[in-house]
Amino acid sequence: MTVCVLHAAAEMFPLLKTGGLADVVGALPPAQSQLGTHARVVLPGFPAVIAGLTDLEPVADLGAAFGAYNVRLERGVLQPHGVVVYVVRADQFYDRPGNPYLDAAHRPYADNDRRFALLGWAAARIATGADPKWKPHIVHAHDWHAGLAPAYLRAFERGGASRVASVITVHNLAYQGTFPASEFGALQLPPDFYAVDGVEFYGLVSFLKAGLYYAERITTVSPTYAREIQTQAQGAGLHGLLQTRTHDITGILNGVDYSIWSPSVDESIASKYTMAKPSGKSKCKAALQERMGLTRDDDALLFGVVSRLTEQKGLDLLLSAVPDIVQRGGQLVVLGTGDPALETGMKNAAAAHPGAVAVELGFDETLSHSIIAGSDVVMVPSRFEPCGLTQLYALAYGPLPLVHRVGGLADTVVDCSLENLAEELATGFVFDSFDRAGIVGAIRRSFALKGRRTEWKAVVKRAMAQNFGWETAALSYAEVYQPLLGG
Ligand code: ADP
Repeated sequence: MTVCVLHAAAEMFPLLKTGGLADVVGALPPAQSQLGTHARVVLPGFPAVIAGLTDLEPVADLGAAFGAYNVRLERGVLQPHGVVVYVVRADQFYDRPGNPYLDAAHRPYADNDRRFALLGWAAARIATGADPKWKPHIVHAHDWHAGLAPAYLRAFERGGASRVASVITVHNLAYQGTFPASEFGALQLPPDFYAVDGVEFYGLVSFLKAGLYYAERITTVSPTYAREIQTQAQGAGLHGLLQTRTHDITGILNGVDYSIWSPSVDESIASKYTMAKPSGKSKCKAALQERMGLTRDDDALLFGVVSRLTEQKGLDLLLSAVPDIVQRGGQLVVLGTGDPALETGMKNAAAAHPGAVAVELGFDETLSHSIIAGSDVVMVPSRFEPCGLTQLYALAYGPLPLVHRVGGLADTVVDCSLENLAEELATGFVFDSFDRAGIVGAIRRSFALKGRRTEWKAVVKRAMAQNFGWETAALSYAEVYQPLLGG
């Protein structure tokens, strides 16, 4: 039997991306299809989604829902992999410029509950026959945006529809999609779903909790994060529920789409290179220094950051360590956007250290590749990190990752301690305690290793030889689906 899975998500690279979720939803379906699972995706009809698909055609008229009139389901194709993507057309909800979640003032849209309830509801409609030509065996919801899909499946089942199993993947437990209880009535769910055993969360409606409660299986994006979220300290209020579901939770590490993130094929970097022929890498460094207005110096240890600028990412800690980088002759380049206070902090650091610190505020896919290719060290000092992708991209391109030992960072980077160097395991720099001493210690280790040219080269070679291809993850997801296919 060919297993058919429908992914429900808010973002998908290259159509629309604000973070790692998009990279995962862009890469997992084609990897699954390679292994014989038919994977399709349903997305809200944001303008960028509609513009990026080919062969768009109408599938079904879904009528009025959640206050949106004339909701339509369309189906298109995303090249080059040919992934079939369903689009929920409700222009009233989705045809807004800019960020998919926030208005121009960076505030969540007031109707986000209904905008994303519609996504989960549409996924459940597809699963119960809205497309006469295709039906999934499993709905795979991603994050709170699609968190109500498992709840609607249950509700439809109660109304007589046949059972369709669901899985929810938590890409970040910190974003839960909570709304006032007064909004529950607008969600078209049975009244008794508003309960502790249901969508209620401390007097609010929680989309993520709904998914965690109603989905048959829960996955998250690294084994360590799967353990962390079941603790009171890191469970963001949901650890109790997660503990009761511990046997249904699996941590599956995200992969890297090497057709996009590999220095041997990357068209957006100054010079392609490989592990065997790394000479292009210094051209990438020179081009990055030039582009960012840094002093042209191949010997300066260049630290790179590509990140959302939020508290999670630990960049306040990095700011406290900027003098330690600069005093040692290092350089820092940051690409990011987010919290105004962090944006200002970054700008101030650049102004204080011209030629040594450069900052670009914004979201720039091409520059993100240039930074990964041109840096010597890529920093991910996150307070918590479900998986993290930039450290995986760093491993592929040869800068060594410098990370805090949490979540997926702990699962993917091995510190350059003496014993790890001796045992030929080291791939980067990992610090344990989230404080200035911790990050400065790792920064000092990176300068020390850089001083030992042969050892540095050996570690880079080992880092670049790591394989985080999506196939491994796709196989693990197939194992999660397997027991759900019985009925
Ligand atoms: P998160 O999903 O929490 O933002 P991840 O490390 O999982 O973190 O994924 C981040 C993704 O977003 C990576 O592909 C990274 O390159 C990209 N990214 C983050 N900030 C920017 C930016 N300002 N410009 C371009 N790409 C960015």
